[in-house]
Amino acid sequence: MKKKLLLSVLALVMSLFVGIQASAAADDIRLGGNDRFDVAINVSKNGWSSASTVIIANWDAYGDALAATPLAYKYNAPILLTKPIALDSRVKTEIQRLNAKSVIIVGGTISVSDNIVRELRNLGISVRRISGSNRVEVANNIAKEIGPTSKVVIADGFNFPDALSIAPYAARNGYPILLTNPKSLLDSSTQALIDQWPISQTIISGGPLSVSETVYNNVPNPRRFGGNSRFEVSANIANAYFSASTAAFVTKGSIFADALTGSVLAAKKNAPILLTEPDRLPVAITNSIVNNGLSRFTVLGGPISVSDSVFVKISNNIVGETIVLDPGHGGTDPGAAGYSLVEKEIVLDIAKRVNSKLSNSLSKVVMTRQTDTYLSLDQRVKTAEKSGADAFVSFHVNSYTSGSANGTETWYDSTYASASSKKLAEEIQTELVKAMGTRDRGVKEGGFYVIRNSKMPSVLVEIAFISNSTDASKLASNTYRQKAADAIYKGIMNYYN
Ligand SMILES: [Zn+2]
Repeated sequence: MKKKLLLSVLALVMSLFVGIQASAAADDIRLGGNDRFDVAINVSKNGWSSASTVIIANWDAYGDALAATPLAYKYNAPILLTKPIALDSRVKTEIQRLNAKSVIIVGGTISVSDNIVRELRNLGISVRRISGSNRVEVANNIAKEIGPTSKVVIADGFNFPDALSIAPYAARNGYPILLTNPKSLLDSSTQALIDQWPISQTIISGGPLSVSETVYNNVPNPRRFGGNSRFEVSANIANAYFSASTAAFVTKGSIFADALTGSVLAAKKNAPILLTEPDRLPVAITNSIVNNGLSRFTVLGGPISVSDSVFVKISNNIVGETIVLDPGHGGTDPGAAGYSLVEKEIVLDIAKRVNSKLSNSLSKVVMTRQTDTYLSLDQRVKTAEKSGADAFVSFHVNSYTSGSANGTETWYDSTYASASSKKLAEEIQTELVKAMGTRDRGVKEGGFYVIRNSKMPSVLVEIAFISNSTDASKLASNTYRQKAADAIYKGIMNYYN
């Protein structure tokens, strides 16, 4: 579970002016900038206090920069970008800040001129170049510097998303990224390299329109990561290779400028690169975040690339958490009854409404029951345990022999996670009373089975009295059921933030 500070409005305002933005939470950041040179520099500043080696690539040659990612990881070197003729002064300053002793230039003299080589040598830096007459050759020559290896990656060299998505994994494992033209066979020099190496698996990033079936059929033991979109490809790679990680990088899926140099930092942080649309997370990416419990995010690019609404959403502390909702009773156990109402029905309805509210929060919600079925108390506790719950909320309504008893109360138990359980209870209780207009009976400590035996923060909510006419009329009302659900949702969100 994450712990973060309150959201600072200042951080959002600042994002318009600065290149590095911390979220409310110290563990989510945005690495932006005025242009791609700036973004690359901010990535470098975030990941390296110093670096003996720096890699420089042409600002437009995404193929070179992506193919260089495994090499950059190997030398623990940031990748900086340049225009062909001269070094940008900001880039020069960053090389000096890093106290770099050597620079590896990737690409030929048309991409990075010899004038830049001279500029760097004048700074006392040793320079060498990994060249090639085209991007495919540059990638092959980078591979020769890395390899021979047991696995290689092949990606479309003429579009960036699939190569970008696989780059952190390839880099971390030292597997070269080889490039291909989607419309043709592998370049003969690439095929020769693969044929000479002891390859046990060929990882292909992208569907058949990016790397053809013919290429697939001519490489050793291919494993393809496809999908209906670039977003799905990136999600599929994250799901396959980063399910144990809690960190992820998020960047716009339609431009390479921001993300190009972030892939080596992602590799350092053992984080996948997830591609997104500027204003909303694609479904495949949402599912990847929820199912893998990803919770620490680095956004590459400014608010135009990845909007502040997406940044705020992924920065919420509930992201990556697992919440168990436990509607009490069910099946042969109806719970309390009164005024033609039955507890098991009311609590299931309200819990489902909370579930639907939480579905947009990037947390994983597990319901102990979704239908009118009987569950033992121990089954409920086990469900929470097995799902790796971070919080547990049990839903009940109250009843008493006298119709005068009324109001809302929330219970916690001090056996496990006492302070957190109490806090969760307080947040939910406050919101519920406010929304329902019921009597505040307070937060109470007591050992109900499900909260006494659950090790994570857990509470039991008694929403209102089914045996009291005023309370019961609220429990019967769709409006008040929604109010109750909104309040419990709010209480959970407040607890996390
Ligand atoms: Zn009950």
